[in-house]
Amino acid sequence: MIPLIDLKIQHASIAAEVEEAIKRVCDNTAFILSDDVKQFEAEFAGYCGAKHGVGVANGTDALFLALKALGIGAGDEVLVPTNTFIATAEAVSHTGATPVFVDCAPANYCIDPTRIEAAITSKTKAIIPVHLYGHPADMDAILTIARSNGLKIVEDCAQAHGTLYKGKHAGSMGDAAGFSFYPSKTLGAYGDAGIVLTNDDETCEKLKLLRDNGRTTWYEHAIIGHNSRLDGMQAAILRVKLKYLDKWVNGRRAHAAEYGQLLSGIDGLVLPIEQPEMKHAYYVYVVRVNDRDGFMAKLKEKGCGCGVHYPLPLHLQPAYGMLGGREGDLPVAEEYAKHIVSIPMFPELTKEQVAQAASIIREAVGA
Ligand SMILES: *Cc1c(COP(=O)(O)O)cnc(C)c1O
Repeated sequence: MIPLIDLKIQHASIAAEVEEAIKRVCDNTAFILSDDVKQFEAEFAGYCGAKHGVGVANGTDALFLALKALGIGAGDEVLVPTNTFIATAEAVSHTGATPVFVDCAPANYCIDPTRIEAAITSKTKAIIPVHLYGHPADMDAILTIARSNGLKIVEDCAQAHGTLYKGKHAGSMGDAAGFSFYPSKTLGAYGDAGIVLTNDDETCEKLKLLRDNGRTTWYEHAIIGHNSRLDGMQAAILRVKLKYLDKWVNGRRAHAAEYGQLLSGIDGLVLPIEQPEMKHAYYVYVVRVNDRDGFMAKLKEKGCGCGVHYPLPLHLQPAYGMLGGREGDLPVAEEYAKHIVSIPMFPELTKEQVAQAASIIREAVGA
């Protein structure tokens, strides 16, 4: 009845334009690092207020290649929030460096700047702030710590298309930033895709080598690189979709405002907050409830979609067991992980669906 997310309505609204873009790519057989890729890189970087965009295969690679381009590798440590999708940490691990997990801030679920300095060692080389759920991390505080400790910043913007921090776009503030265009992201491709943004010319050149087998000319390879190119079809589709991004983000924000009206002041239901001077893009709308399992069962029974972003903090994931993380290490994220629920959020929700979802939610928490 009210899905957590529905991609079909959005596709239907732009199907003709998307099909025309796909046809153009096919007619030109412009599949790899094509003109559409170059145009999209410039257009997306321009949208975010960054100097360069380098299209890559997906968001995980965007973060991984950004770290590599900044010289992060074996023996280094990189600080990442424990409350995020595992790709943030995998990007670090694939460089040979070790992720060091940091707890999240109670206000915005992002990395807690007051807990960063305690995690810095002589091996720390970078911080990856994740603008989680579409709310910006506390960038002024994080940048100050980074500067005074000589650390690089790679912003994880996979959930932050359209997010603003004091008027600046997510992805324009660090040494580099990685975006994902996984289909369900706020700006989604029709398959896997990603981009790295940077304001630094040298980092941009390094990224272009890294994503394309280290190639300087067709037969000459300056470094040992990777194959992580953005394909022409995805770039052409993303160019169509980028024109609508602000409209879609504003749609999400209107639903969030409506949820705020309909659901505020209820005991046992904590709503997301948008901190002053921030623009939350509401990639997901995350609330907290006491009895999550019971709450989710009631929503499902009434036909209201829901999900959890994310039920297990990274320091407790089996994949990172070798780092020795234990229950109790990062208590804020651990506590939130048991109570967070994502409720329906996508631009094409109708006002009626938002009202229906809100009334099902009120009932489920016994309000
Ligand atoms: C989606 C996501 C990624 C990874 O993006 P992919 O394109 O799926 O590789 C990284 N970080 C966060 C926070 C994400 O939500």
